[in-house]
Amino acid sequence: MPASASLRQRLYPLLPGIAAHFGTPFHIYDEAGIRTTGERLNRAFAGVPGFREYYAAKALPNPRILAIARSLGFGFDCSSVAELQLARGIGAHGDDLMFTSNNTASDEFAAALDGGGSILNLDDISLVDKVPRMPERICFRYNPGPARSGNAIIGNPVEAKYGVPHEQIEEAFRAAIARGARRFGLHTMLASNELDRRYMVKTIAMLLSVVRALSEKLSVRFDFVNMGGGLGIPYRPEEPEFDVEALGRQAAQQFTQFHALHGWAPALFMESGRYVTGPHGVLVTRAINHKHGYREYVGVDACMSALMRPGMYGAYHHIDVVGKPAGAHDAPVDVVGSLCENNDKFATQRPLPPVADGDLLVIHDTGAHGHAMGFNYNGRLRPQELLLTADCRVERIRRAETLQDHFATLHFAPDAWQPGAAA
Ligand SMILES: *Cc1c(COP(=O)(O)O)cnc(C)c1O
Repeated sequence: MPASASLRQRLYPLLPGIAAHFGTPFHIYDEAGIRTTGERLNRAFAGVPGFREYYAAKALPNPRILAIARSLGFGFDCSSVAELQLARGIGAHGDDLMFTSNNTASDEFAAALDGGGSILNLDDISLVDKVPRMPERICFRYNPGPARSGNAIIGNPVEAKYGVPHEQIEEAFRAAIARGARRFGLHTMLASNELDRRYMVKTIAMLLSVVRALSEKLSVRFDFVNMGGGLGIPYRPEEPEFDVEALGRQAAQQFTQFHALHGWAPALFMESGRYVTGPHGVLVTRAINHKHGYREYVGVDACMSALMRPGMYGAYHHIDVVGKPAGAHDAPVDVVGSLCENNDKFATQRPLPPVADGDLLVIHDTGAHGHAMGFNYNGRLRPQELLLTADCRVERIRRAETLQDHFATLHFAPDAWQPGAAA
């Protein structure tokens, strides 16, 4: 189910007041829901020694949310200097941070190693010599290639730009050992928004089998394996929930078995973003126009700058009209923003109750890869973010962008270069 019944009950009666106070549009996140899911994840994996979730900061890079994740015991998966800085800003450091970048520049490695450090997760063997100094503990991102199929969002592993191919993984660790690495981790990320638990069980089995082979060839043990993110959420009302408890039980069996065979086992890390916060955010936007063209259009005051997923992936996001439950008078409409791009639609031919100008629409499941992915094409600005706290207050945790923000990069001292001038 999209946004839980509990969130609807707590949030919907407040929405007219929130919209009147803060204005629209806004994303609003549910602290209670994030905590419940985070605790559930920790409980589900309690049977795997050393389990830790590294929340994928890119999913919802707001310090107020990251602080909630940290209070749940989570570390952070960061893939850019900005994400490292955000996570460090709320007190995460060293082993709390996993730096999983790709096509990494050397100043990014420097930022990852300095300022309190992080666990480096290298995307390629060629990067071993580009790391300014090899930390004691190193991790590689593994890409199994044709041995596994990916899924629709992340694509086929053979076509993915990420990770060290199977044929190079042993050599990659040898190269890191030659530069001084002494402790090891193995990472992979093969699926995104995957609802099939069995896929994740296979991913863990694959990691453990690669670790077993590597530890024999290299005569080392591994501190951890990191199964990546990608646990799915049901965006459509009829989709089933991911059975995280069953995954946790099966993972515990896999690690117990590994330990029984080898006398040791790595810890298990995970870096879910979507699963933790996705269902606990909604985009609230006001209907401002109704157009009766070849189709019926409802124009709202948000656009792709607030949420790219429908336009980018054709993703389904459930929509409620506040105060108008779905019913017999639902008729298909396209819900559109105002970008000069025809894919700027939150829904296409979606049956909705009759929408009047001024109605509030709730677009579900925007708590991950929502605001964060927004862009400024057409000079459309990103909206504010609000938090419904566990004690039912509403805080603004990011203001809306202004035109001044948008034009900020145009204001600087003039500079010019011409051929023949010094560099
Ligand atoms: C995006 C990403 C994640 C999080 O993915 P979700 O689908 O939000 O769970 C985790 N790890 C890496 C390396 C990523 O790029």
